[in-house]
Amino acid sequence: MQIYHFTCKGCGYESKLPLGSSDLDQILTDTNLDYAEYRLFICKKEAKFVHADIQDKEFEGRCSSDGSDLMEIEERFPLKCPHCNNDLVIEMIAPLEEQT
Ligand SMILES: [Zn+2]
Ligand SMILES: [Zn+2]
Repeated sequence: MQIYHFTCKGCGYESKLPLGSSDLDQILTDTNLDYAEYRLFICKKEAKFVHADIQDKEFEGRCSSDGSDLMEIEERFPLKCPHCNNDLVIEMIAPLEEQT
């Protein structure tokens, strides 16, 4: 799992989301119960990025805050701002526990 920091130079939109699957170590030691796979979606209603755990059985492709249909981002990069469609600056930040 990696943290993605999106910044838009056009409108100042900013979002920090952890994406990807659970760490491999965790999958090997745990009984897969905690296995999560976070993917990036766009909520068109709010014009912002959201992330969702597609392994979660409760997840039906809807935004957790307003219930609208989410659009999955298949092509990861380059990404456009969900707000103003400008290019986004993307930074990848390692999660804290991996910074040993
Ligand atoms: Zn923007
Ligand atoms: Zn939403």
